[in-house]
Amino acid sequence: EHWVTMMPKVELHAHLNGSIRDSTLLELARVLGEKGVIVFSDVEHVIMKSDRTLHEVFKLFDLIHIITTDYTTVTRITKEVVEDFAAENVVYLELRTTPKRNDSIGMSKRSYMEAVVEGLRAVSTVDIAFTPHDLGAGIPANSPPVKDLCNGTTRKKIYVRLLLSIDRRETTAAAMETVKLALEMRDLGVVGIDLSGNPIVGEWITFLPALKFAREQGLFITLHCGEVRNRKEIQAMLEFSPQRIGHACCFEEEEWRKLKTSEIPVEICLTSNIRTESISSIDIHHFVDLYNAKHPLVLCTDDAGVFSTTLSGEYFLAASAFGLGKREMFQLSRNAIDFIFADDKVKRELRENFDSAAMKLD
Ligand code: 5GP
Repeated sequence: EHWVTMMPKVELHAHLNGSIRDSTLLELARVLGEKGVIVFSDVEHVIMKSDRTLHEVFKLFDLIHIITTDYTTVTRITKEVVEDFAAENVVYLELRTTPKRNDSIGMSKRSYMEAVVEGLRAVSTVDIAFTPHDLGAGIPANSPPVKDLCNGTTRKKIYVRLLLSIDRRETTAAAMETVKLALEMRDLGVVGIDLSGNPIVGEWITFLPALKFAREQGLFITLHCGEVRNRKEIQAMLEFSPQRIGHACCFEEEEWRKLKTSEIPVEICLTSNIRTESISSIDIHHFVDLYNAKHPLVLCTDDAGVFSTTLSGEYFLAASAFGLGKREMFQLSRNAIDFIFADDKVKRELRENFDSAAMKLD
């Protein structure tokens, strides 16, 4: 195994429906094709296409949602996504998803999320800890802790936390419903709120009341910020001072300054930015400037399925594109623990895990 795969990693920006295995998506599409709900050959072409503009990505998500939004499928993809991340040594995962209503099958935002949690419970190839009450990752309280992360003979373990996404197409009331649901599901590992969806749709003030309420109630907040040029919105978002932001592609001088003084950590999704042409080429990616400025940042996949990547792939890409070595990449990965949306006990345990894994990487 390559060292980027062996290395423990933290994934903080992964959309559930963007992280589905191609094989699963094609299988599900084939079944719907047989039922006559969709035309499989049309869909197959769209799923397998590799370069997509940001606009095309959102059209693809509408299609994926038709294919996946039912109870058993949501449970299945959640289980698979967690197992796939754990298989490449992601030891802490914050998985985000937009709770969806699907009236035709009686699905509510709540039952959608229940299907997600059932998926977490169904994880079987690795040990999982996802509620605030789970001690170690699936380790019974009375057994000695197993610290070995990179050793193939030991079962892998992963911490998972959930973020509920507000889609920019939603109304204030719908956004508020998502925040209330998040609050009700805190005991099931929901820790925060994300704002995502097509950046040219919707306005900041529509989501602000729900985001303010979420913050008052102690939920963590991360915002997709600056995927397209929109100075007013970018500034309002930085002003709001979320715990993290995603992307930060289309910032101008003044926004960079604000961001850097704010020290808000940035979730960087290299392949996603390149594929969607948000950034024209990797060598001018803002990772370099932020990294050199020692600004807090974390490498993430965004949509591992849609962009055919993995978190290890993102680390490999950064290492080769920016000339960073094993030690620097390990430190980058470990630093992400500082801005995860989990309590100090989890952070402590993760740091211990990283430090014992470090010895094996040398
Ligand atoms: P889901 O929330 O359905 O599990 O994951 C897919 C959804 O995540 C998409 O419909 C979209 O709202 C959001 N999403 C995925 N990738 C991106 C991205 O690159 N940018 C933005 N703004 N939203 C995204």
